[in-house]
Amino acid sequence: MSHRFLLDAMLGSLTRWLRLYGYDTIYLKDVEDIDLIELAKKEDRILLTRDELLTRIANKRGIHSYYLNKINDAEALLEVARVFNLSYNIENLRCPLCNYVINKIDKNEIKDLIPKNTFERFNDFWICKGCKNVYWKGSHWQKILSTLNNVNELKGNP
Ligand SMILES: [Zn+2]
Repeated sequence: MSHRFLLDAMLGSLTRWLRLYGYDTIYLKDVEDIDLIELAKKEDRILLTRDELLTRIANKRGIHSYYLNKINDAEALLEVARVFNLSYNIENLRCPLCNYVINKIDKNEIKDLIPKNTFERFNDFWICKGCKNVYWKGSHWQKILSTLNNVNELKGNP
């Protein structure tokens, strides 16, 4: 069974990294601590927060909560990957925008959704089933994938 996460507003930018790493992750802003705790309980999610007091309260109520004080997203992702023994698989990405699973797609099927020069230059494409956003290994995406690989290597084997 795969872990699912709930992040507090202070960890918003980590959300997309955990999704790309392949984990079902949501975050809430402008809500009370009690709402975070209740949602974590209801959806069986691990609560990640930068609020140490919230971690203590949540743990007392039987919610699995972890206090994360890393500033940098890559460091934070590495810490979460280590603590919860997460594993990364490029076949298992989730959309950073909407949390749905991303699947590889034949480029001819999305020809109309991407710029012509992109279609000609690249061969590997992925599409999000949720928001229909298309991804390809352009320079930005390459950078993201190499960060994910780095984290995975640094994590080491359990
Ligand atoms: Zn999406």
